[in-house]
Amino acid sequence: MEKKTICIDFDGVIHDYSNGFQGEDVFGGMIPNANTGTSVLKEKGWTIIIFTTRKKTEKLKKWLEDNKIAYDYINENPEHPERTSGKVIADVYLDDRGICFNGRWDQWLIREIADFEPWQKRQQKEMEQLSNFREPEDSIWDRGNERRIKASSL
Ligand SMILES: [Mg+2]
Repeated sequence: MEKKTICIDFDGVIHDYSNGFQGEDVFGGMIPNANTGTSVLKEKGWTIIIFTTRKKTEKLKKWLEDNKIAYDYINENPEHPERTSGKVIADVYLDDRGICFNGRWDQWLIREIADFEPWQKRQQKEMEQLSNFREPEDSIWDRGNERRIKASSL
């Protein structure tokens, strides 16, 4: 089995970061299935590095253990060759603030960068749009207490 390494971001990928940074050892709930996903990668032989701007504190390690996140290292890869920078060598980076580079510096890429929003922000906007959604009155069919959307407006 080929051994591969993945760097997984913590904020917004492993734990909920919808409210932004709240303090060094303040964490949100686990993103659903982060425990299962990391366990499956581990079973498949991946080396998992939690790669975060946060420091490797005891509370962070405890949170990862309490939430059964499978990982090998935090912010380091001891299997690194010497004389490399602080960027951790990995086959894949998983991050909520990344754009996958597909080999071309073109307008699409520039637009993607300019318009980039992390998933939490996109989700928040979708929720706001949904809560502001109102049926126009002429598409509502009324009879007594019954209110339905007219089939012709669907
Ligand atoms: Mg993040």
